Amino acid sequence: MDTIMDTIVAISTPAGTAHRGIVRLSGDEAINIASKLFKPDSAKSLKKTGNFTAIRGLLNIPQIDSVPALLFLYRAPTSYTREDVVELHTFGSPALLQSILSIFISLGARLAHPGEFTRRAFTAGRIDLARAESVAQLISAHNLSEMRTASLALSGGLSKKIEEVSHTIRDCLALLESAIDFSDQDIDYIPRHQVALQLKEAAKNLHSLLTKSPPAASGVRVAICGAPNVGKSSLFNCLVGRKRALTSPIPGTTRDTVSETIKIDGAEFLLLDCAGNADSALPIDQLAAIQMRNYVGNADIALFVTDSSKRPAGSERIFFNQISCKKIFVRNKIDLPQSASFSAPQKALTVKTSCVTKKGISELKSALISLIKSGEVDRSHSAIAATARQRETVQNALKSVKKAQDSLSEGESEEFIALDLREALSRLSEITGESVTESVLNAIFAKFCIGK
Ligand code: GDP
Repeated sequence: MDTIMDTIVAISTPAGTAHRGIVRLSGDEAINIASKLFKPDSAKSLKKTGNFTAIRGLLNIPQIDSVPALLFLYRAPTSYTREDVVELHTFGSPALLQSILSIFISLGARLAHPGEFTRRAFTAGRIDLARAESVAQLISAHNLSEMRTASLALSGGLSKKIEEVSHTIRDCLALLESAIDFSDQDIDYIPRHQVALQLKEAAKNLHSLLTKSPPAASGVRVAICGAPNVGKSSLFNCLVGRKRALTSPIPGTTRDTVSETIKIDGAEFLLLDCAGNADSALPIDQLAAIQMRNYVGNADIALFVTDSSKRPAGSERIFFNQISCKKIFVRNKIDLPQSASFSAPQKALTVKTSCVTKKGISELKSALISLIKSGEVDRSHSAIAATARQRETVQNALKSVKKAQDSLSEGESEEFIALDLREALSRLSEITGESVTESVLNAIFAKFCIGK
């Protein structure tokens, strides 16, 4: 039977011929087993070689004779698995790598299961489960934005966010539980409004982990923003190529978020039209705050639209400057007489458009494509739950928080609300792996390749 104490071995490079190949050992016997095959060029024995060292030597393989190799040594507990780890780097011949593998197995190592090196890192507490999952994501990333999402998770971005939300929920639980303790005394001990505020914050943060969908699923998020009546919905319709959003000369027509996925030169963009906030009674700076919070803050690119036939409001520029993601300054309505005093913010990427004559629409599409190609669009400035498992778990936690919010507003007892919050905490701990079943772990690591 396999045990965690076994010394495991695997070929860590992909199948097929290659310039270099790597065979990796991890466990108590790793150095001992490697030293039976690998003879260092120097007189120093492997056992005396220092941590994090690479040494040259020869592999004495029967029937092949001596093959040059480089050996990397990582000692417990500072290695990836927190065990002794040896990596042999040599020629990438499949026959050679298989021979080395067979020899190591005959010397007492066991063939590693898929993802077993990373699973050992998780079991030893070196990385949490979210970070372990990101290792597989990194390896299978197809583009730079998938790489960024995974590397953010690997550096602990997702785990940190989960910990922050858990912390907020634990605070609420503490408040509720103190009320339960005092329930025999006739005092309303807990500040319910404080719990309500904290739960709102927790729900918002959980929601944000789901909002920035994995890149392949929904494309680059483009928010169309700006003051009322500048032509945002018209521009949305022009880009989509049909009448999707309602337009009107009356400011404040668009009431709900309208979104549509479009493809430009094969690249997917999720267009978001500003919604529900174009209340003409609101000053532009308040409007800006709402737009920023509601959807520009979650976008990869913002199209900031202005009406070039009118003098711009000073606060439009303030709004423009507040946008932290990549932005394009769109001077719309160029078919109308232009406002003499208009000037674009310095160095802003500017495109002039008319939704009436369609002038500039293809230039705007090209500008979007060139932003993507330049690699300047940071699609992962916030952590996201990227794997199906992580997303489902966050969704379940969010459901429990929402149930607790409902119970709180309906005046339910503290015990009742606490139940849902404990459920939410338990779901969140599954993401980082503090509480997770063996079968879930097996399913996660089965997706890894052997040797990782
Ligand atoms: P929103 O409130 O920013 O979404 O603005 P809308 O798209 O609803 O447009 C407001 C008004 O401006 C409508 O009457 C549109 O027909 C008009 N409009 C939009 N774009 C243009 C344009 O490029 N040229 C002209 N002349 N009118 C436009």
